[in-house]
Amino acid sequence: MSIKALAPDVISKIAAGEVVQRPASVVKELVENSLDAGATQITVEVSEGGKQLIRVADNGVGLPADEVELAFYRHSTSKIVAETDIETLSTLGFRGEALPSIAAVADVSVVTRHADELTGTAITFKGGSITNKSKQGAPQGTTITVQNLFHNVPARLKFLKSVSTENGHISYLVTQYSLAFPEVKFSLTINGRTNLRSSGNGNLRDVLVEVYGLETAQAMLEIQPSEADAQVQVGGYVSPSSISRSARDYLSFFINRRWVQSRMLTYAVEEAYQGMLMTGRHPIAVVNLSVSPSDVDVNVHPSKSEVKFRSERDIFSAVQKAVRGTLVGYGSQHGRRIPSLLPNPVPTSAPLPGTTGLSVAISSQPSGESREMEATEPGTKLPILRVIGQFQNTYIMAEASEGLYLIDQHAAHERVRFERVREQQSRQTVDIQGLLEPITIELTAQHSEILDSQEELLAAAGFSLEHFGERTYLIRSVPAMLKQDAIRDVLFEILDALGDAQKDQWQYNIAASVACHGAIKSGDTLTVQEMEDLIRQLEQTHSPRTCPHGRPTIIYFSASQIEREFGRR
Ligand code: ADP
Ligand code: MG
Repeated sequence: MSIKALAPDVISKIAAGEVVQRPASVVKELVENSLDAGATQITVEVSEGGKQLIRVADNGVGLPADEVELAFYRHSTSKIVAETDIETLSTLGFRGEALPSIAAVADVSVVTRHADELTGTAITFKGGSITNKSKQGAPQGTTITVQNLFHNVPARLKFLKSVSTENGHISYLVTQYSLAFPEVKFSLTINGRTNLRSSGNGNLRDVLVEVYGLETAQAMLEIQPSEADAQVQVGGYVSPSSISRSARDYLSFFINRRWVQSRMLTYAVEEAYQGMLMTGRHPIAVVNLSVSPSDVDVNVHPSKSEVKFRSERDIFSAVQKAVRGTLVGYGSQHGRRIPSLLPNPVPTSAPLPGTTGLSVAISSQPSGESREMEATEPGTKLPILRVIGQFQNTYIMAEASEGLYLIDQHAAHERVRFERVREQQSRQTVDIQGLLEPITIELTAQHSEILDSQEELLAAAGFSLEHFGERTYLIRSVPAMLKQDAIRDVLFEILDALGDAQKDQWQYNIAASVACHGAIKSGDTLTVQEMEDLIRQLEQTHSPRTCPHGRPTIIYFSASQIEREFGRR
């Protein structure tokens, strides 16, 4: 075959292959562009694993009308001019490849308005060429919609995994960026359902709550700051040795706020846990590294997710030392205690005077919803609630525009915890914590029989037990969500449940049991912040209005009911 130059559309598809490997790569490039544009709010929406639709909307600086087309030319970028600029780079992008690559393998439309301009621009690309361009009113910022990804690259399309796998990659990716940029408000919607939402309040621990749940987030240890003059600054959070995971997916690394995947950094962190975790267990960590941009080469791969350090060894030892120091420092300060949920709540709010008489006079929400268990039905979602106060240390009083809500704090927390466990069960990765001091437990013959025959099922639920004489056992590890003092009770409940129920049923029962023990109790005084956190988590559940036992979590008084009771109507 004689040598011929490739046609431009073939070249662009080949090049696109390196940048856009799967739907999550598109999300990555668009989110990076939004961050580079200075956005403080980034909304990501996907459907069908991103194959059908990916939409990223930001409130960044926007594109000037006369540059929108240019942004889609290969190697067009506003971020660098000369090659040496890479050495002082502060943006995530610089290769000018993402937009043209995406447009080569999908239908793309852009609506954008630059901060300095009054009208926005809408532009549509099909098959890499412009099909439509017009002026359009738009808020400041940029919304890019990508549809029919890989429709013209059947080979790629064939290699994509299931919708849920691709969704998983996207969710993981947005999670990483929300951890890297706590000051940016991220939201991810998958097939119309909120998957992730960060507040953008700048507090990394709050993002950890969103990502890993309240208990884990509260237990995470803040990496102690490096000396001010160190070449490498290491920050972030690591899990105490009492919390671990069976996969390495919970290690996140950011270099100068760029999310990177690095075996060397993974190894550095794991080394720091030497002798603290059981084999096969891995920590959770969010590690932020600041280094001089000239000490790191970000231009080693088109997807920019790998980097090269000028001095790997220095970075390795800085990370290992910082993490080890944090773990050791924590151990000596706190002994071997496992931090508990919501430590020492301090009351900061008093209930409003005169509100206590309401409960007798007014009836509850229509009863149709109260037996609803797992299904997501329209109308079960909560409105945005504002906390007013706590009633009898048992109910949270909150208002929305249309009425007043009384929320049972225990039932609500149970619901939140229950869905978390169910979710872990469905992923078949129940988070577990190893016990530093195993708990000894004495079982009845019947329970001991069940335990011996159902060891695998118990292990899947997060419990590992060891025979220690006749009917005595050592509990070595338990589900991470369980509080130390609830372990025995939950185990007994589970053994009871295993006695007769079917697999699906006992999984449900285990989740309900774990959810209940360790949930906030009635009588616990909560701060406004704690009540707000709980409501925010409740809002995100599929069935916020009932607890796992089917009892209501919320009683609602409409404003008109209240008006009627007061004879105002
Ligand atoms: P790069 O990010 O490497 O510069 P891209 O192809 O991703 O290349 O983007 C090209 C250019 O388009 C960027 O340099 C930037 O000027 C502009 N751009 C892309 N996305 C956005 C956005 N969301 N907001 C503002 N400008 C954007
Ligand atoms: Mg870019």
